[in-house]
Amino acid sequence: MFNKKKFWIAVVSLVLAISLVLTGCGKKSSSSGESSSGTTSEEKKPYIGVAIYKFDDTFMTGVRNAIAKEGQGKAKLDFVDSQNSQSTQNDKIDLFITKKVDALAINPVDRTAAGVLIDKAKQANIPVVFFNREPLPEDMKKWDKVYYVGAKAEQSGTLQGEIMAEYWKSHPEADKNHNGIMEYVMITGEPGHQDAILRTEYSIKAVEAAGIKVKCLAQDTAMWDRVKGQEKMQAFLASFGDKIEAVFCNNDDMALGAIEALKAAGYFKNGKYIPVVGVDATTPGLQALEEGTLLGTVLNDAKAQGKATFNLAYVLAKGEKPTKENVGFDITDGKYIWVPYQKVTKDNLEEMKKYVNEQ
Ligand code: BGC
Repeated sequence: MFNKKKFWIAVVSLVLAISLVLTGCGKKSSSSGESSSGTTSEEKKPYIGVAIYKFDDTFMTGVRNAIAKEGQGKAKLDFVDSQNSQSTQNDKIDLFITKKVDALAINPVDRTAAGVLIDKAKQANIPVVFFNREPLPEDMKKWDKVYYVGAKAEQSGTLQGEIMAEYWKSHPEADKNHNGIMEYVMITGEPGHQDAILRTEYSIKAVEAAGIKVKCLAQDTAMWDRVKGQEKMQAFLASFGDKIEAVFCNNDDMALGAIEALKAAGYFKNGKYIPVVGVDATTPGLQALEEGTLLGTVLNDAKAQGKATFNLAYVLAKGEKPTKENVGFDITDGKYIWVPYQKVTKDNLEEMKKYVNEQ
């Protein structure tokens, strides 16, 4: 028996059901479509947490920019400023671990604190690339997913010392009191930093190796900082004045500060000169070299260090094993990438300016 009412109820229910399914599917497919072309593909990119010891450091800004440039379009990069506090950095690392980053790139505030960070990362199984501040060898051995990208600090010291020795030998007037001894002052970086310790030691070793006698008039830390470098140099000038014959600085920022103090004391005009050497070859450092106030510096290759740090973290974040082929740099002892330093004087200034300043 044909029941008209039942027939229409069935037709209406069917239409409703079909339209519900369709709109449901439609909604679902369009939203998942959006997320697969947007969020999902973004989510698929490896997520890398990068902690810098402090953003307000000229050289580290160069490294940070190089990491960002290298990672563009390849990974999700999250940069944090540890504000020169190890406890702040520890908190930031905890947060990265909670957010489940795929790899960590850490420029430690205190390199002796790396062990604690390694323990945290190991527990969460997140590989770590340290850079610029070298963890102690015993900490590096704690886990096989720990790496370091940096430069051999002693090399920068040696190259800096060679620049000074060369100048001393070809400029007899540099020995102001003609006693055959280079009387120098040394402005050092942060105590405990491998670059501060080894640059201080190896720069002088290189001068001595060139057969020059040396005497340290004064040595003090200016914590890698330009303003502090200026203050230290002012203090040295107040104590020793024109007795100072050479100025060694562990980095360019402090050398630039020292140059300011020397300028105020009448140097770099009317034939009054004193050799000042730095390390880094930052843009302002190269400018001082061009102006003739900085005698020489050593390229601390921020670009290559940033590139190596990113490439290594990226490969690890994807769960791959780092090799020379996929990272693009030699890996020493399965853990270390060493980026070479290079001497910078007026002779190769143009070439260096091009390299450092090109984007
Ligand atoms: C650089 C310094 C910098 C320091 C930060 C050194 O390698 O030469 O300019 O302040 O690293 O850790």
